[in-house]
Amino acid sequence: MIKNKMHALAKTRPEVGLEMIEADIPQIGPDDVLIRVNKTGICGTDIHIWNWDEWAQRTIPVPLITGHEFAGEIVALGKNVDDLKIGQRCSGEGHLIGKQSRQSRSGKFHLDPQTRGIGVNEQGAFAEYLRLPAFNVVPLPDAIDDEIGAILDPLGNAVHTALSFDLVGEDVLITGAGPIGIMAAAVARHVGARHVVITDINQDRLDLAAKVTDVIPVNVATENLKDVQNRLKMVQGFDVGLEMSGSQIALDQMVESLVMGGRIALLGIPPGKSPVDWSRIVFKAITIKGVYGREIFETWYKMIAMLENGLDVRGVITHRMKASDYIAGFETMRSGKSGKIVLDWS
Ligand code: ZN
Repeated sequence: MIKNKMHALAKTRPEVGLEMIEADIPQIGPDDVLIRVNKTGICGTDIHIWNWDEWAQRTIPVPLITGHEFAGEIVALGKNVDDLKIGQRCSGEGHLIGKQSRQSRSGKFHLDPQTRGIGVNEQGAFAEYLRLPAFNVVPLPDAIDDEIGAILDPLGNAVHTALSFDLVGEDVLITGAGPIGIMAAAVARHVGARHVVITDINQDRLDLAAKVTDVIPVNVATENLKDVQNRLKMVQGFDVGLEMSGSQIALDQMVESLVMGGRIALLGIPPGKSPVDWSRIVFKAITIKGVYGREIFETWYKMIAMLENGLDVRGVITHRMKASDYIAGFETMRSGKSGKIVLDWS
């Protein structure tokens, strides 16, 4: 039975914080579904929105229900939706794309320049109910429970980044041991990299990385990356770099540690313009790829297939709490001492 009001976590005023509100349950259009949200993940993006930093002030309309990482169950179908069923467990792509751009019309949906994000530009998933275009729904197999379903969005970022280059038999350097860096390490192991090294200056995160997957954590505040390379008997350096921190120092270190002809996928977002030693990149013949979101729906397909085939990232979830305890959730997240935090809306 669907009520007509729901709880939702929203930015209600142009200031720090979020507020639990009573909102109307979203109306769905003919091509949409209504999803009863069970679990949601708190993302770094949500922390920017909570903190009401410069980016958030520029980007977020007020009022807005935030959140974009979710899993739930379809409870209503728009009249044109005939390929999904009520009761279907699902997650979904939070990037709502246009259908007119050259990229969309050639099937490169993730490159559509008109993309709008739920919980960023449109009403989001931190709520008991979410309206989503049926196109964006990703059904969940039984093997993937709701808490893993709720982190498929960031896992998708990790998968998209990690699969940017062939990792089979390669030595991989990941800079930044946040949840996405840690999940990327797990993916790199799963697909057959040789050595996977992850760097950070936050020891808690490095300890979590080592717990979640078979990765070599390096605290670059106290340890020299060169020594680690020697210990691992790398002749030249790392073959592939996955930059997850947005830190200038980390990127410099990555370029320095890569082989001639190395490849870098960049997901981390630097805080502003940052000086890059381009001549070093040119002379080392390094390929750099920027990564945005997930490939729609290729990343989702690969990610679900890998999860069904033994990829295990559950350890990255360090906190599970009721949605009503969201303040504690955000405080924990802001402390920098957590992995993923999953809120329960059921
Ligand atoms: Zn996210």
